[in-house]
Amino acid sequence: MDLKAPRGTRDVLPEETARRQALERAFADVCDRYGYGEIRVPTFEHTELFVRGVGDASDIVRKEMYTFEDKGGRSLTLRPEGTAGVARAFIEQGMASRPAPVKLWYNMNMFRYEKMQKGRYREFWQFGCEVFGSEAPEADAEVIGLLDSYFLELGLSRIRLELNSIGCPRCREAFRQALKDYYKPHFASLCSDCQVRYELNPLRLLDCKEDHCHQLAEEAPVQLDFLCPACLEHFDKVKGYLDKLGVAYTINPRLVRGLDYYTRTVFEFVSPHVGTQGSICGGGRYDGLIAELGGDDMPAVGFAMGVERLLIELEAQGIPAGQLKEPDLYIASFPSTAADALALAQQLIREGFAVETDIMGRSIRAQMKAADRRGARFILVLGDRELAEAKGRLRRLSDGSESEVPLTAVSSRLKQEGEVLDHE
Ligand code: ATP
Ligand code: MG
Repeated sequence: MDLKAPRGTRDVLPEETARRQALERAFADVCDRYGYGEIRVPTFEHTELFVRGVGDASDIVRKEMYTFEDKGGRSLTLRPEGTAGVARAFIEQGMASRPAPVKLWYNMNMFRYEKMQKGRYREFWQFGCEVFGSEAPEADAEVIGLLDSYFLELGLSRIRLELNSIGCPRCREAFRQALKDYYKPHFASLCSDCQVRYELNPLRLLDCKEDHCHQLAEEAPVQLDFLCPACLEHFDKVKGYLDKLGVAYTINPRLVRGLDYYTRTVFEFVSPHVGTQGSICGGGRYDGLIAELGGDDMPAVGFAMGVERLLIELEAQGIPAGQLKEPDLYIASFPSTAADALALAQQLIREGFAVETDIMGRSIRAQMKAADRRGARFILVLGDRELAEAKGRLRRLSDGSESEVPLTAVSSRLKQEGEVLDHE
C-alpha cells in the first residue's frame, strides 16, 4: 500500500498554516471593506457545468479535470476553478433578483490534473472575487483596485499587472477569421493540441506554450486591432480609472486567458518568482457566462488568485507573514501540582490568553527549555509552596525580570503587561 499523499497534493503543516491564515484574514478583511460577501459552493459539480462554463476548448476541460462517476451513475467533477460554480449558484439561488451589483468573494481549493512543477499542484487554493450585474468599466477597475490594495497591505511590490481586451463576441468574429487566415499556411507545423484549437477555438492558439506555436503567436494578429467602438471605449475607460487609482499596468496585446468565458477586459498579475508561467492571479470580464449557463443576460467581472503562488511570492520578496502564536505564559509544574497547572492554564485560556503547560510529565529543566523554545513571554513555576501561598513569581523571559503575583491576579497582570508591551 502506498501511504504517500497523492501526487500533486501537499500537506500543510502548522507553520505554513499560520502564514496562510494571515493571508486569508487579510483577504477576507479587504473584501469586507470593499463590500464583498463570502460565498462557498460545492467541491464537486456536474461535469457538464465546467464543460459549458469553462469551455470545451480550454486546457482545463480537455486535459485537467478530475472527473468521476458516482454510485448513481452521474458524471461529477472536482471543481477546477471557482467561477463556474459561483455562476451556477448565482443562477440557482436567484441572486439576479438581489439589488445589483452582487459582489462575492471565495477562498476554495481547486483540483486540476496537471504536471507537477514549482507553483503548480493538483490540489491548490484560490482566493477569488466575482461581481455580477455591472457592465461598467468601474467594476473592472474596482476588482483590480481591490487586488492592488491587498498586495499593498501584504507589503508586496513589483508584481506586474498585464492588461488586455479580448473584445465581445461581435468584434471577436472578425478577429477569429484573421487568426485563422494567419495560421492556415502554418497548420501542418502546429502541435496536435493547436490543430484541435484551430478548429474549436482559434483564440486558444495564442495561449500555447509549445516553442514553435509560441513563436508563431508572437507574429499573430492581436485582438486590440479588431475591437469594435464600444469595446474600445470600455477598454479606454478601464485604463483611465486605473490611472486615477494609481494602479500601474502594462498592455499585453497577446494576453488571453486560459478559460473560454472571458470577454473584454482580461488581466494577469505576473512575477518571475512563481514558476514557468509566472501568473499569480488572473481575471477579467465574463459577460456571456451566466447566459451560457442558462441564466438571463448578466455582465460579470472577477479574478482568481493562486494562494500557493502568493506564498512563493511573499517568500521571494522576503516578507515574513504570520507566525505560530507564541504563548503569553508557560506554567511549569511538578507531579504534585500538574492538575492545578492544567486548571490554571484552562482558566487563563478561557479568558483569552495563550497559555501552555507541561503535558509530558517532564522535569522542570525540560519544561524551562520548552517554554524558551516556544517563545513564551512569561513563565510561572507552580510548586507546592506557590499553591499553598496562592501566589507565584511571574518571570519575563526577554529580560529575566520577576514580579510576585497572587495566583488570582495572574490574568490581570498578564493583561497589564500586554498593554505595556503593545505600547512599547
Ligand atoms: P497557468 O497559466 O499557470 O496554468 P491558469 O491560466 O491555468 O494558470 P487560472 O485558471 O486563471 O490559471 O487560475 C488563476 C490562478 O490560479 C493562477 O494565476 C495561479 O496563481 C493559480 N493556479 C492555476 N493553476 C494552478 C495549479 N495547478 N497549482 C497552483 N496554482 C494554480
Ligand atoms: Mg493552467
